[in-house]
Amino acid sequence: MMTSTLDLFLASLVLGATSLSSRLVVWLPGLALRRALPWLQSLAVGLLLGDALLHVLPHALETGLAQHEAMGWVGLGVLALVAVETFLRSGNVEVAAPGVPVTFARMNLVGDFLHHFVDGIVLAAGFIAGGAAGLATLLAVALHEIPREIGSASVLVAGGYRPRDAFRLSLGMAVAVPAGALAMQ
Ligand SMILES: [Zn+2]
Repeated sequence: MMTSTLDLFLASLVLGATSLSSRLVVWLPGLALRRALPWLQSLAVGLLLGDALLHVLPHALETGLAQHEAMGWVGLGVLALVAVETFLRSGNVEVAAPGVPVTFARMNLVGDFLHHFVDGIVLAAGFIAGGAAGLATLLAVALHEIPREIGSASVLVAGGYRPRDAFRLSLGMAVAVPAGALAMQ
């Protein structure tokens, strides 16, 4: 089945729309949200660590990436994150008050944007393999995005963003999905 750029673009909009699930941080009443925050943050960390260490890395090794190369990329990834954090931390005093975001929350935004961009690339790769593969990729990525979005927005709230701002920013970062998808065209 032939697929067009329009199909891919529409699929990327559907995938980006999963960030609407981050609205949960606005809907949950204050006390319930405060109680849920540690769990939701754990969910965000668990999902990403699990995906990287139990899925992506073993898959890369299976498909022939040399072990020393894979570990080199892991090391480079850690260093890149330290560099981003150092940049965001410069001149910023960490104060956890409502509306005063701390460094980890801003780092989460950068990470969210990059994550969406890569999801867009993954989606485009699925559509390059064919329409059915593209739709299967859309479904698989969308399913991991819903809990990840909720977890990510909760990290923003825990880092000082007001729930409404956390939702708006989460939604805004989703523009990276069509951007990533179309970058592959
Ligand atoms: Zn994702």
